[in-house]
Amino acid sequence: MNIKDLLTKDFLEKEDILQLLAAEGDEYEQLLKRASEVKLSVLDNKVHLRGLIELSNICRKSCLYCGVRSGNDRVERYSLTDDEVLECARLAHQLGYGSVAIQSGERSDREFTDRITRLVSKIKKIDGGSLGITLSLGEQSEEVYRQWFDAGAHRYLLRIESSTEALYYKIHPHDERHDFHKRLACIDTLLDIGYQTGTGVMVGLPFQTLDHLADDLLFFRSKDVAMVGMGPYIPHPDTPLYTFANQIPAPEERMRLTLKMIAILRLMMPEINMVAATANETVDPMGREKAIQAGANVIMPNLTPNAYREDYLIYPDKACVNDKPEQCRSCLDLRMKAIGHEVLYNAWGDSVAFTKKKA
Ligand code: SAH
Repeated sequence: MNIKDLLTKDFLEKEDILQLLAAEGDEYEQLLKRASEVKLSVLDNKVHLRGLIELSNICRKSCLYCGVRSGNDRVERYSLTDDEVLECARLAHQLGYGSVAIQSGERSDREFTDRITRLVSKIKKIDGGSLGITLSLGEQSEEVYRQWFDAGAHRYLLRIESSTEALYYKIHPHDERHDFHKRLACIDTLLDIGYQTGTGVMVGLPFQTLDHLADDLLFFRSKDVAMVGMGPYIPHPDTPLYTFANQIPAPEERMRLTLKMIAILRLMMPEINMVAATANETVDPMGREKAIQAGANVIMPNLTPNAYREDYLIYPDKACVNDKPEQCRSCLDLRMKAIGHEVLYNAWGDSVAFTKKKA
């Protein structure tokens, strides 16, 4: 189909998505431009922030791509204290971030899950519940997800990593701790409970094809999720998947593919929240700006105390590891202004798609 018709089509089918994923040159530029127009018309030029708190790198999983996987004994394991977490949340509030996102290696023992419940309740007490709370703490039981929701968390991020079972098992061990169907079921549970549910994938993985990526986009639409995070895969030398690092597209290509994924999804789901992942910046210094220009509308500035950041290297060469939170705030503000966007402070920045669905 002619690119102009494709870009204004109401409902993209898989063959359309495949054509757009293969777009090059002028067609690629047109795709990005169209996605940007759609975003600006539906969501304006506003960028929402989530202050990221990397709670702990202790993890029971062994995902083959992840630098903090259990089994990587080169990592010094840490866990923030309750006071440190609450201090980060207060800082988020002071900086006007409006929301925090707590992310961690996966643990599902009671001590951990109860601690999260307590922390969420305490964060909810800051200034009369003014901070929004996103959790990204992996797969948990329905009971635990409910407990955290009842305590006040209202958004949950759980990337599916791949919607294709065969690819999922190429990048995870095939055992009871890494179960594709369980991860899928968690997404359904989160949606049922009423979380603004986010998911996503890495782009440019070994063995990943355009067909897989098209299926990922169709999966996001079929689940009608409220948020999506997609970023380039970055090979970590201390992980098993690094063996295949020579088989993946070059950084520029992974960046372009990520931008295409963001742009196509913006056409498919105009009102969702989409994160400009920090990983974009590892492959391109302007990566986050480019993601925002291609249709993303959320940024997650890091609030983790600097002393711990080097230990939460899920991938190497992570951006902003040495920045102080205050610097980060003014830097992001300027960077967004430079591309005609405006950071929205003191707001939860809920997904418009979700808010409308609920009404
Ligand atoms: N334990 C949580 C958080 C995982 S880290 C969970 O299971 O959801 C958050 C995301 O970082 C992962 O979902 C994955 O998509 C991404 N990630 C991990 N390793 C990466 C790598 N080497 N390159 C790029 N992204 C990576």
